[in-house]
Amino acid sequence: MLNRRYTAQYDTAIVRILLLKTKDSVAISSESPIKMSGAVAQTGDGGSPLKAFVFVPNDIAEAVKIDPGYSPLIMNGQPYRGSIELRSADGTISVINILKIDDYLLSVVPGEIPANWEEEALKAQAVAARTYTYYQLLANRKNQGGFDLEATTNFQVYKGMIDEKPRTTEAVRATSGEIIIYDAKPILSYFHSTCGGKTTDDNYVWNTSHLPYLHGVSCGFCNDSTKFEWESRLSLDEIRNNLSKKYRAVGAIKKISFRKKDDRVIEVYIRHSRGNLKIAGNSFRLLFPPEKVRSLYFTSKKYNAGLALAGHGWGHGVGLCQWGARGMALRGYRYQEILKHYYTAVTVTSVRNGYIASH
Ligand SMILES: [Zn+2]
Repeated sequence: MLNRRYTAQYDTAIVRILLLKTKDSVAISSESPIKMSGAVAQTGDGGSPLKAFVFVPNDIAEAVKIDPGYSPLIMNGQPYRGSIELRSADGTISVINILKIDDYLLSVVPGEIPANWEEEALKAQAVAARTYTYYQLLANRKNQGGFDLEATTNFQVYKGMIDEKPRTTEAVRATSGEIIIYDAKPILSYFHSTCGGKTTDDNYVWNTSHLPYLHGVSCGFCNDSTKFEWESRLSLDEIRNNLSKKYRAVGAIKKISFRKKDDRVIEVYIRHSRGNLKIAGNSFRLLFPPEKVRSLYFTSKKYNAGLALAGHGWGHGVGLCQWGARGMALRGYRYQEILKHYYTAVTVTSVRNGYIASH
């Protein structure tokens, strides 16, 4: 099966990552001469090939593209693969790293999974992260601003070459070009640390329409996770204080009840001295520091000053369970089998020469 829909855009498989937006100066250097295009006022002697520049927002006319020589570019002290583009608007510089998708993944994958885990688990994570990146490329290609993804937790955390680890590099290289598709499109390949026994449908966590490949499945492979089971206590004051930061006029809490689907909290009802509040389960979880409400898969009991929670897993519980992937790898499963366990009715396929072709 060949799908030509992606040919024009993804031949080059280049990704543009917004590293930084700043009103301060940006320092770019390299151990070899830097190639630069675009109008810019530069520091340095200007005569011989330059290896270091400092850019200040108002000196950049529009966009400046900086290409490395034989050694990587160093931006504010950190090395990056690929090129860097600087854009200036309203006294702010946007620093955008333009590089091959796999070079980007070399840094992203070890940030998402411990590099000393089993090889097949690392490969599953590499393919999931690559697929997530392709999905975002398709979704964001028309964005203004000259970038596809941000380097923050809004997408996948990216800090450049400093995070690269040999074993995850091997996993990225070994799976190069492989992505997960459903209905001939890259999937939105969510992943999380530990499901705690079973994963869940995406629409029970987020207020979105249900994606057919993000079905809850039983896991049974993540029992080794230190977060497989957890306990915590939330005092009524703590709940009220955290609620007040986001929702106005929350009075003394009188009653809290949880509505669940598939054992996970999907809605929280709070009766307080000034009224009633209904919030999504995931919004409730994110009100607190992660160690307080690690997942929505919990039961609760009242104690005199609050709620005692007993829960399973860590994270949103949608898609790939990373500790489960580790467990499956330990039992001899291949990365394709791991991915097909956690994403329903999908195909692992290869992007070659701009085509998406099935194995
Ligand atoms: Zn699991």
